[in-house]
Amino acid sequence: MTSEVIQVHSLINGEKVKGKDQDKRINPTNPDEVVCYYPLNTREETVQAIEAAEEAYKEWKKSSIDERVKRMERAIQKIKDQTPEIAKLLSREHGKALYDAEGEIGVSLMWMEFAMKNVKEMLKEEVREHDNGRTIIKKDPIGVVSAISPWNYPISLSTIKIAPALLTGNTLVLKPSPFAPLAVSKVAEIIASEFPKGVLNLVHGDADVGKELTSNPKVAKIAFTGGTETAKHIMKAAADTIKQMTLELGGNDAAIILNDFDVNDKDAMRRLVIANFLTAGQICMIAKRIYVHESIYDQFVEKYIEAANDWIRVGDPFDENVTVGPVNNKGQVEFVQGLIDDAKERGSEVIKVGTILDEKLFEQGFFMHPTVVLGPDQHDPIVEKEQFGPTVPILKFKDDEHAIKLANDSIYGLTSSVWGKEEHAIDVAGQIEAGTTMINTAAVQGLDVKFPFGGVKQSGIGREYGAEGLEAYTSTHVINVPEQLDLPYIPK
Ligand code: NAD
Repeated sequence: MTSEVIQVHSLINGEKVKGKDQDKRINPTNPDEVVCYYPLNTREETVQAIEAAEEAYKEWKKSSIDERVKRMERAIQKIKDQTPEIAKLLSREHGKALYDAEGEIGVSLMWMEFAMKNVKEMLKEEVREHDNGRTIIKKDPIGVVSAISPWNYPISLSTIKIAPALLTGNTLVLKPSPFAPLAVSKVAEIIASEFPKGVLNLVHGDADVGKELTSNPKVAKIAFTGGTETAKHIMKAAADTIKQMTLELGGNDAAIILNDFDVNDKDAMRRLVIANFLTAGQICMIAKRIYVHESIYDQFVEKYIEAANDWIRVGDPFDENVTVGPVNNKGQVEFVQGLIDDAKERGSEVIKVGTILDEKLFEQGFFMHPTVVLGPDQHDPIVEKEQFGPTVPILKFKDDEHAIKLANDSIYGLTSSVWGKEEHAIDVAGQIEAGTTMINTAAVQGLDVKFPFGGVKQSGIGREYGAEGLEAYTSTHVINVPEQLDLPYIPK
């Protein structure tokens, strides 16, 4: 892999902007290596991007759906053609294994194609003839959208917003995370090049740029994916101008292992391990707490550790044998290690799982040895907080009711999973407070872009993916043509 240092640009009204101030993104496998420099945009530059989007909206909202679809189709093709190079950029700046980076781009393309193929049907005007005349129901675009994305899945969590926003006639300003600004900028540049200038703008920076994007009166909608604490700031910033909002936030997803789960089912065990350790555990919808029926707990732990040792191979993201790369940044390593140390101090047993393929590299980068944490209490921080790293606590439950109570005992409600005989699992699943519950699989393995995704409780507001993920960028406009024009109870 090249060690070339790349200059990332912002994109304001079709112009590449280097920005006055710059910051650097380092390689998590080798923190001494600079991967790219990216602009730290000022508030003024952010305002310019918003104003460019506002200006472009005047024409773009009138564009035909066929034109939008054609443009998106060309962008999708270009991304497909460039997937191998983009995936390498993503692995290098993020730390995720190359297969994982390619998978992320694959899911992004799947969603973009779904959105493109379904937008025409979704935007169809409905005309209802009824006993008091005629009513036309339209889906109008909303206006300028601020899209703010996190570092863990920078491309998919940006295109999940860009595709529906542009296809439904909105314009957008994207702000990716400073922890993974490179590959997503490449994708945004490709998409923007197929649309009129100002329709898709890109700015870089952190909270300061974020504050402008979420408080500027010209912004009509915020589409945010990130942490729950950040979302609280965003809701406050947006309150003065009552913006539309889609919030996809943190999760602390429970995996419930029922008494009729077959601990000797190696495929299921592997799926569960993947649901805990893919992308080094840095996924909103990863299974972050495992609850096991007490009657099978001991056998489960033994077989789970075997499966984890088998699947987890930690090392260089570009090594084909590697399944788990480094953690994305030092702060995240320290946070996750803090939770593990705290669990140990409270009396939990911490077991290292998987193989470290290259000890020298391991010492150099932001690597963590994956762990399982046995026997913590429900309210220990390792269970209660979203770890977002390569560790998972395993706890016991007595019966289904107890499992449901433990799973629901959280401020979060993003996804969850139930493992066991199908009908039994479906019955338990129906009682869990979550946006999605998967049966005998979990995390991205059970995700389908055709269906809505999002959280309940403090895991978010609204849905992405599916028809709902397109509709979220429209507002319903009713044109009423009543026959009876006067109301009988109002005196003439
Ligand atoms: P984060 O909240 O720290 O940052 C997310 C984005 O918000 C970044 O682009 C950041 O620069 C920006 N930001 C920071 N402060 C801001 C402010 N005051 N105003 C506006 N924007 C601001 O999250 P992160 O660490 O990048 O990502 C990890 C979190 O994201 C986890 O909690 C994870 O569960 C969550 N996440 C949720 C989903 C989902 O679909 N529900 C998906 C992926 C990640």
